[in-house]
Parts: sequence; structure tokens; C-alpha cells
Amino acid sequence: MTDTSRPWRPTPLIVASAAVHAGALGYLVAEPSAWPLAIGTLVADQLLLTGAGLWPRSTVLGSNWRSLPQHSVLRGEVAITIDDGPDPAITPHVLDILDRYNAKATFFCIGERALEHRDLCQEIARRGHAVENHSQHHLYRFALLGLGGIDREIRLSQETITDITGQRPRFFRAPAGLRNPLLEPILARHNLQLVSWTRRGYDTRESCSTKVTNRLLQGIEAGDILLLHDGNAARTVEGEPIILQVLPRLLDAIAENKLRPVTLPDALI
Ligand SMILES: [Zn+2]
Repeated sequence: MTDTSRPWRPTPLIVASAAVHAGALGYLVAEPSAWPLAIGTLVADQLLLTGAGLWPRSTVLGSNWRSLPQHSVLRGEVAITIDDGPDPAITPHVLDILDRYNAKATFFCIGERALEHRDLCQEIARRGHAVENHSQHHLYRFALLGLGGIDREIRLSQETITDITGQRPRFFRAPAGLRNPLLEPILARHNLQLVSWTRRGYDTRESCSTKVTNRLLQGIEAGDILLLHDGNAARTVEGEPIILQVLPRLLDAIAENKLRPVTLPDALI
């Protein structure tokens, strides 16, 4: 373990799953004729683990921030998280809106897009926002990768973002929120905390900004982590990126509710 790692503590589901695997294999060796039961048990266990990985807000595979820590809740904080950028057509406008409201946000950037738009990625950090790890290539088969593939996607993005911003990411969000049981030990190795969300607006496929805004604002309260996109953003019928219509309304409502938008690293303090 290096100073940039944290210990991996398997969850009860992972411990139980390992025991089930060992038990089924031992049974198979002792009673080869009972293979249907042993194989059936292993398949059922795999299905359970796969199901947990398809549920972005699940915590049974490892630690997962679905809301902010309690001390941040008590301070009345919320986190706006913005995924899949940077995008030169959208991100500069997002930064200007955030500045107008004196609000800070967290950008889960894709490593290869950060490399394409280095200056823009630097500008995000320069304006006081957090740039965090959303993998290097945003592969939709991310949850199907093995140990080496997942580690590579995360390590390359850590190196890319650290090199561009001078700040080492402390948070990771999985592409499309999907993962497998191998992710948590790799995150521990890189000292990264997995983050999902409290609420999302489906702004990559919804063309009505009012619907997206309402989904994000319904029951908004301290501790919420809200998910928006500056990359892969859907457009209104007039062709405007959804996030540019949603963000001012969201920030107005956050102010009306006397909440304070902070970055995820600031919520740690
Ligand atoms: Zn994404």
C-alpha cells in the first residue's frame, strides 16, 4: 500500500459471496454428482452481484456516496455534479452561470476529453470547481471489464486530470453508473471515493428542461447530490443544451431554500 491508497474492506455481501463460492466449489469436489446444485448456487450468486452492479445507488458492493456526509448536511450544503465534459460548446457557458451565482460545482470529466480540451479543463479548476475522475474513455462496457481494464481506465484518468489541473481527483463516478465487484478494491488502491447521486434529471435524453428541473428539485434538501451533464447533453426543441436552461432555475431554487452549493472535496472538510 502506498500513501495514495486506502485499505479495502469488503462489504458483507462480498464476504458472503466469497464464502458461497468456496463452499460450492468444496461441495463440488466432495460430491461431484451434486454439480447441478453447486453450479446453480454459483450462478445465483453471480446474478446477485451483477444485479447490485446494475443499480447505481447500491452500497452492497462498496462505499457509495448517494448524499453528502452528515457534517455537510448540517451546514446546509448541496452538491451539483456535472458529467461527461469538458465540452467547448457548453462548459464555458456553464462556468459563467456558476460564476453569476457564486456557486461551486464538481465536474466529472472524461480523461480523453480533458486531453482534447486541456485549457478548458484547467479553466474549470482555476474558477474554483473540482475536477474529478469519470474514467479515461467512458466505455459503456466499463462494468464488463476485468481488474486490469478497470484499473487502466481509472489510473489513466487520474494521471490525466492531475497533470492538467495540478489536483489529484478524490472522487470517481462510474460511466453510466454501472460497475462490478472488482471496482471497489481498485478505487481503494487509488484512494478514490465512489459517488452516485441523490437525484438526476435524465438531461442526456430529455428535451424538456422543465421536466429535468422538476426532477432535480422535487424535495430538494441539504445533503443532496444532483446530477447534470455538460457532455452528451440533450437539447431543447430550439437546440439549446438542456443544462443551460436548467442550471439558473436550479441555482435560484437552491438560494430560495437557503442551501449552499459546494464541491465534493469541500463537503469532506
Ligand atoms: Zn458519464
